[in-house]
Amino acid sequence: LLRKIFFFVQEVEQTYIMIKPDGVQRGLVGEIISRFEKKGFLLKGLKLFQCPKDLAQEHYKDLKERPFFPNLIDYITSGPVVCMAWEGDGVVASARKLIGATNPLQAEPGTIRGDLAVQTGRNVVHGSDSPDNGKREIGLWFKEGELAQWESVQTPWLIE
Ligand code: UDP
Ligand code: MG
Repeated sequence: LLRKIFFFVQEVEQTYIMIKPDGVQRGLVGEIISRFEKKGFLLKGLKLFQCPKDLAQEHYKDLKERPFFPNLIDYITSGPVVCMAWEGDGVVASARKLIGATNPLQAEPGTIRGDLAVQTGRNVVHGSDSPDNGKREIGLWFKEGELAQWESVQTPWLIE
């Protein structure tokens, strides 16, 4: 009961994870989703989506002065992406660790990028870099009502 009350009062941390078009094209959707599932985070939202240019630009607006920005926007809009919202204490930093370094050649083995990619410009997955950006990006990519309100039967076996 206490956890239930806490659940309603406390805002649980959420992160925006996205499988980029190369991950979808290379048939890595199941593999990537399962990394987060197996870790024990809670899936709150999931959809396959063809991203329009303006949304890609808004999502990556902090990088708009960078030389690779036009290529990045072409890349992200080049095919469908898989949009996900994942929830759990510490999920933002933990997901970044599961994803690995931006340059897949520098990403540790065992991470998604370390295991599944070779180039920064084709690094298969995105993860929010802060809880605030998690909120911002989930708000950008999901509409009201697209996130599910549910509790997993696994929760008592994951969180004491
Ligand atoms: N990127 C790129 N060239 C670079 C740096 C970044 O193409 O030199 C792309 C890459 O897809 C990366 C994304 O821009 O994932 C966002 O860059 P950021 O530095 O935020 O890396 P991330 O947070 O994705 O690890
Ligand atoms: Mg980033």
